[in-house]
Amino acid sequence: MLLERLRENGVVGAGGAGFPTYKKLERAVDTVIMNAAECEPLLHKDKELLRHFMSPILDGMQLAMRQVGARRGIIGIKNKYKDLIHELEVAGAPRGIEVHALGDFYPAGDEFITVYETTKRVIPPGGLPGDVGCLVTNVETLLNVALDRPVTRKYLTIAGDVREPVTVCAPIGASFGDVLRAAGVAPESVAHVLVGGVMMGKLSHGMHEVITRTTGGLLCFPEEHILPRRYLADRPARDKIGRSACDQCSFCTEMCPRYLIGHPVEPHLAMRGLGFNLVGESMILGSQFCCECNLCSLYACPEDLFPKDACADNKVMMRAKKLQHPDTGRKDTRPHSMQEYRHVPLTSLIKKLGLSAYKNVGPLVEIAWDLDEVRIPLKQHVGAPAIACVQVGQRVEVGQPIGRAPDGLGVAVHASMRGHVASVGDEIVIRRND
Ligand code: SF4
Ligand code: SF4
Repeated sequence: MLLERLRENGVVGAGGAGFPTYKKLERAVDTVIMNAAECEPLLHKDKELLRHFMSPILDGMQLAMRQVGARRGIIGIKNKYKDLIHELEVAGAPRGIEVHALGDFYPAGDEFITVYETTKRVIPPGGLPGDVGCLVTNVETLLNVALDRPVTRKYLTIAGDVREPVTVCAPIGASFGDVLRAAGVAPESVAHVLVGGVMMGKLSHGMHEVITRTTGGLLCFPEEHILPRRYLADRPARDKIGRSACDQCSFCTEMCPRYLIGHPVEPHLAMRGLGFNLVGESMILGSQFCCECNLCSLYACPEDLFPKDACADNKVMMRAKKLQHPDTGRKDTRPHSMQEYRHVPLTSLIKKLGLSAYKNVGPLVEIAWDLDEVRIPLKQHVGAPAIACVQVGQRVEVGQPIGRAPDGLGVAVHASMRGHVASVGDEIVIRRND
């Protein structure tokens, strides 16, 4: 019953790729972990949600625990949020939910790292949290589980080169330009936007792009900032420099969080492989378990090279050739003896990325949305796209299904504003009624 409602309400992982929550809750585990680490610099929406909606979020966690049969609930949150930790301990204890204070490092929110830090269980290479009896879920996802209504809004932080960073609750399908304007940022003054985070985000293609169920932040940058320029580096130049400048110092590997929990990820080998045409060699295969956290490229490498991209390219090639590392699923994986000593403090990362000048806050603000149009993609989640169930000219209300859940993996999508359907394609455009 709960699973069917989650599918119909379009609840997906709000902090990552958008995996349908109903599917995730099908597997029995003994521990549910709320991932409140939010370790990407400048993002604040999870903390803001906990400050404003703690009780329903804990309700959502209890529902999830009951569904998967978990006796233990853990909230993983950075130890610096002392006020929240105290409140969560008080509110969580009667519900069988404990708090685990995480260090202030990146990437504490990578689910493999969160599971290890909170339970000391190592997910096998290529495995899932369920393989070690855990379910990891995002704060906003749990709020959506508890609210039991169609997901039509998305919380996200707007930060970076802006006067007042804020967290807003935006209609899904609103354009970046409309959302920035509503948050007091003139879109024409912003040269670049990193969507979702400065470490694992994507560089936006323009202000016409829209908010989806997985958009966690819009980080604004001026033309001259180093970060967007790093993201803009084209592949041939990137690989050519990598081939000639990588001195195989291995800092990228020694700092890699997945390598440190015992996975055979060795980005320095992926860099070595740039100069060769090696298929099926050990220097390529370890890339399979890279989570693309970007720590190697944006922090560890003293030459400012791109080992993360080398790993990402290897992963694509491996998928195409159906190659697998022999350690896939290996259960006796143990962390490196230096694991706990090589955490990268967020303060150091912020400094290295040139973000120190930006305000590192994002209070939740109310916005009275007055949009002319929204464009709602039918695919905002892992799985098949939703199937359009409205026609051009049809009037719709907020929360009305406009795409039904497909057969197989996938969820429904809903109107996020009142209006009429202006077009139906891969996205459904809804315009304000005259
Ligand atoms: S990519 Fe950078 S950190 Fe990695 S081995 Fe080469 S020079 Fe060293
Ligand atoms: S991006 Fe780099 S640091 Fe992160 S998991 Fe991959 S290889 Fe390791």
